[in-house]
Formats: sequence, C-alpha cells, structure tokens
Amino acid sequence: MPVTKNYYDILGVKKDASTDEIKKAFRRLARKHHPDAGGTEEKFKEINEAYEVLSDAEKREQYDQYGAYFGGQVPPGAGGPGQGAPWPGGGFSYEHVDLGDLGDLFGSVFSGGGFSGTGTARGASTQARRGRDLTYEITLDFDEALSGVSTKVDVQRAETCSVCKGSGAKSGTSPTKCPSCGGIGHVSEGQGLFGFSRTCPRCGGSGQVIEQPCTKCKGKGRVVRIKPVTVNVPPGVTDGGKLRFKGKGEPGQGGGPPGDLYVVTHIRKHPYFTRDGADVVLDLPITITEAALGTEVRIPVPGGGKVKLKIAPGTEDGKVHRITSKGAPRLKGSGRGDLKARTRIVVPEKLTAEEEELLKRFASSRKEDLRAHIK
Ligand SMILES: [Zn+2]
Ligand SMILES: [Zn+2]
Repeated sequence: MPVTKNYYDILGVKKDASTDEIKKAFRRLARKHHPDAGGTEEKFKEINEAYEVLSDAEKREQYDQYGAYFGGQVPPGAGGPGQGAPWPGGGFSYEHVDLGDLGDLFGSVFSGGGFSGTGTARGASTQARRGRDLTYEITLDFDEALSGVSTKVDVQRAETCSVCKGSGAKSGTSPTKCPSCGGIGHVSEGQGLFGFSRTCPRCGGSGQVIEQPCTKCKGKGRVVRIKPVTVNVPPGVTDGGKLRFKGKGEPGQGGGPPGDLYVVTHIRKHPYFTRDGADVVLDLPITITEAALGTEVRIPVPGGGKVKLKIAPGTEDGKVHRITSKGAPRLKGSGRGDLKARTRIVVPEKLTAEEEELLKRFASSRKEDLRAHIK
C-alpha cells in the first residue's frame, strides 16, 4: 500500500471532520500559504491537493480506506489479479446478510479491513456519524463461485463501548468542557489578516476532555471487535468482483447509520475450466486423426454432468464449440453464459516405424503444397 501524505494533518482537521470544517480549514490555510501572502508554492499546492481529495465524498472515502487516493483506480492487491476492471460497476448489492453461526468457516481469507485503529475515535461525541465502510477479501473454489455460497468473514469493527456507552468517561463521571479552547474545539493563532484558528490540540476538536477515561475503551468510546459475519455470495461471482453488503460495515456513532461491508471475491483455479465472464472455457485436446476424420466426445459441464459434442471432420486447432447456457450463472440478469470447448490438436511426438510409413504414404497421396502462396 503506497504511503502518501496525511491530508487530514495537512489541513489540520480531524479524520471525521465535516465537509464544512474541511472547507473552513482549507480557506484559512490557503489564505495563509498563498504565494501572494508570502507562502511557498509547494505548501500551497499541498493544501490544494488535500482539499481536492477530502472535499469530494467519493475520493475521501477511498482515501480513508486505503490511506491514499488512486485517482479512481484500484489499489494494487485490492482487486483480482489480471481481471481488467476488478470493481465492476459497484458490484452486487445485497440487502440482507445473516449474522450468526452458520456452517463452518472455510476459505475465507481475512486480509485487512478499513479499520485503521489510529485512535481517531473520540468519546463524548454527540455528532451523528456514519460508520466506516469495510473491505474484505474471500477466496472461493471454482464451483462455489458458480453455485453461490454462504461463508463467514471475520470482520474487525469498532463498536460503541458497552461500558461507557460511547462517552469514553469512566462510569459515574462524564466528559467535561475542554479548558484549552473553552469547548469550541479550536484555538486562535496569529493575528490580523492572516490570523487563523486551528484544531484544539488538547481536545482534538471535540471541545470536551475526559478526566477519568473508561477503563474498557481507554476513553475512546469505542472498542475493536472481531465479529464473524455470514455473507451470502450469490451464484456467478467473478474473480476480482466486489459485493456490497449494505449496513454491515462499521456501526455508526451518535445515531449515525452503519457503513457498508464490501467483499472482494477471488476464485481458485480449476484443473480444466476457466472463466470468461459468465462463459466457461474448456480446452479440449483431440488427436490429429480425430481432427481430420471427426468424432463425437463427451465433455464435462461446469457444476456436474456431461454433454455430447460432435467434432466435425476437418476441425482446425483452436475451433470454439459453443454449448449454450452451460456456463456460469449471470450475476446481473438471468440465465447462464455458455460453455466454450476449444479444440487443441495434439500431434504425436514419437511414431513407430509402421506409423511413420503410414503417414509418409498419406503425405505422398495428398501431394499438398500449403506454402505455394508465400514463396
Ligand atoms: Zn468505554
Ligand atoms: Zn479544546
């Protein structure tokens, strides 16, 4: 994960600052660091860069999640390997996710979430705040991706502390007004035209301090818990696809709504099937005589069963036979993709003396010159 500048620090705002607070901070700093006011161009650019990302809800969300903004691109490792666009159109949306102990934990790869644990939570907040979105990755077997599966994801989420109910204060006490800023959350520095205020360093902008912190959450008002969340993966997910489970991310604060849970799906390799979107590709080896004379073969179908397939006389290497509706289910829309059997002509490496003699006789009877046109 690329490490980039901390835009919040640059603007001197808290991670949960409102758009309005960000705008105010930007104006303040832009005025102070404007090259016309004696600031450096570098600093001024930095402030602009930070503002550009944090003032845009979508960019900010990505920045919060990955610690960097990738210009709308997917960060390396967050999507599927080599699958083009790993975050297709916002992914599949599910309204309902079961919580609980359903089945065994299998194949669920837990690889980092959105929670950073950097102590941005403050207790005593009465401000309603939406919970963070969380992103996890799971790896499914080829067949599971076709049939859909119910699997568990160990989600690490910050939840309201059950002891202090989120206030961060030890039971029997409550947060008090910050003595440094008098409860307004910011302090003034400088004077005149270029005077500006910055976030109060004592209370971090909340306007309140906790004299006696809650022993369970150490005054943060929230505790990090790992909770197994059962997610119902619909049939037909693709490698690198992204599912959205609404409201199953981090719980909100101060009555704010919960964030969403995103699950990026990876698919293990199958011994002979590969996916091409909703189509499934099968490489079908045939002999040179089968290719020349034609044959009928039985081929496996994804998910079980077999179908007959006619190979016409004179079939070329690489010819694709389409068996309709025997591929993977379509994630969006109905029906299934096709099974595409692609012939691979296998030429014998060694011949007996008799076979060699037969082929020589065959060649002399054909008297072929395939390269006449490139002479
Ligand atoms: Zn607590
Ligand atoms: Zn303060």
